[in-house]
Amino acid sequence: MKVHCPVCKKEENWENNPFRPFCSDRCKLIDLGEWAMGKRSIPGDHDPTAEEDSARAPKPSKPEGSEE
Ligand SMILES: [Zn+2]
Repeated sequence: MKVHCPVCKKEENWENNPFRPFCSDRCKLIDLGEWAMGKRSIPGDHDPTAEEDSARAPKPSKPEGSEE
């Protein structure tokens, strides 16, 4: 069975691959690193920059989670 690595799109064997679904340990670390750096944040999810803005605002903003 062949799978495409989600990071580099390289075709790799699924069997005997300890790093699946990635082709290698390198791609696995790249993927984990992207998550850690917030590159894959879910649209509409908590925005860290909004928190920063409210901290600088003269008045305290609404409690977190009541923005809708
Ligand atoms: Zn790869």
